[in-house]
Amino acid sequence: MVDLRAQYERIKPEVDQAIQEVLNSTAFINGPEVKLFAEELSQYSGAKFVIPCANGTDALQIAMMALGFKPGDEVIVPTFTYVATVEVIALLGLKPSFVDVLPDTYELDPKGLEKALTSKTVGIVPVHLYGQCTDMEGVLAFAKKNNLKVIEDTAQAIGAVYTFSNGTKAQAGTIGDIGTTSFFPSKNLGCFGDGGAMFTQDPELAERLRMIANHGQKKKYYHDSIGVNSRLDTLQAAVLRVKLRHLDKYSASRNEVADRYDEAFGTLSMVKIPKRAKNSTHVFHQYTLQIEGGKRDELKAYLQEKGVPSMVYYPVPLHLQNAYREFGYNEGDFPVAESLCKKVLSLPIHTEMNPDEQEFIIDTVKSFFK
Ligand SMILES: *Cc1c(COP(=O)(O)O)cnc(C)c1O
Repeated sequence: MVDLRAQYERIKPEVDQAIQEVLNSTAFINGPEVKLFAEELSQYSGAKFVIPCANGTDALQIAMMALGFKPGDEVIVPTFTYVATVEVIALLGLKPSFVDVLPDTYELDPKGLEKALTSKTVGIVPVHLYGQCTDMEGVLAFAKKNNLKVIEDTAQAIGAVYTFSNGTKAQAGTIGDIGTTSFFPSKNLGCFGDGGAMFTQDPELAERLRMIANHGQKKKYYHDSIGVNSRLDTLQAAVLRVKLRHLDKYSASRNEVADRYDEAFGTLSMVKIPKRAKNSTHVFHQYTLQIEGGKRDELKAYLQEKGVPSMVYYPVPLHLQNAYREFGYNEGDFPVAESLCKKVLSLPIHTEMNPDEQEFIIDTVKSFFK
């Protein structure tokens, strides 16, 4: 699905040198690279504060702790997303209040928000799924009206730009109270292991996020709140500093691949190409088709046999996962997400895809429908 080796080969001298410098310094924990990376990502994203942490799941958990969400509180979240978003809600004793997604952009459907709201609701977690932004204007208006906090799960959409109706632009993750992201190797900005970060514009929240990520302490051995141990390794920060310099180029290559797929599949009647959201650029973390006529699994098996990888993100919506049965949802509650789980298929998309490789993928998909 991605070619991390080819990507590494192209930046090998830069990355190897950065890693070697950390090895020479032996400042493996909280070395200077961590702070430098946070500053550079702050410059790049427009978030005033960037607080690195150990992974994207921790980032979500720390965000919810920093906002003071308490057991029994409810958090609105799309049911069509990666499990991490909902896992931390449940782990903190909160209750996920699911909403459906839009059938064409796969983003949270703002029309479902009102129904998900109760007197216990404290927050919303829009997920910028596959690489483009949720309708943030709709989410913010609803949050403001109902006094809710907004945490943007930006694990799949780092660098995507949202345009408000007044023309103002902002990057994914810098719009809500807190944005969270992941540097898992296959994410758009990936390191060589685990990593994550939180974004905010609010200095007090930034301080709380930093404190919670560091055992609830501002001063060593003086603990003001219950915290966690969640750090970005210096080695990973060194790698990320190099890769951040290439991120715009990486997003542009992903878009070229997506455009070629669009052109190739736009005319296939059984295939729906991904729709671009109106107010967002797309960084194509995933290129996801919808396969009509119940043929998705057959196509996936066919592709596998011909040597073309493909993936189903995600086969089961979260409200129907065994782990989340206790929250009382049933089949039929979120028909769009349930139907998408049967239709979606993501094709390889990455920064090093050459036209010959892509031609082979395109021809193989097309040959299935002949
Ligand atoms: C990858 C991902 C996460 C979790 O990131 P990790 O770094 O793997 O913990 C959270 N949310 C979404 C939508 C993701 O895709």
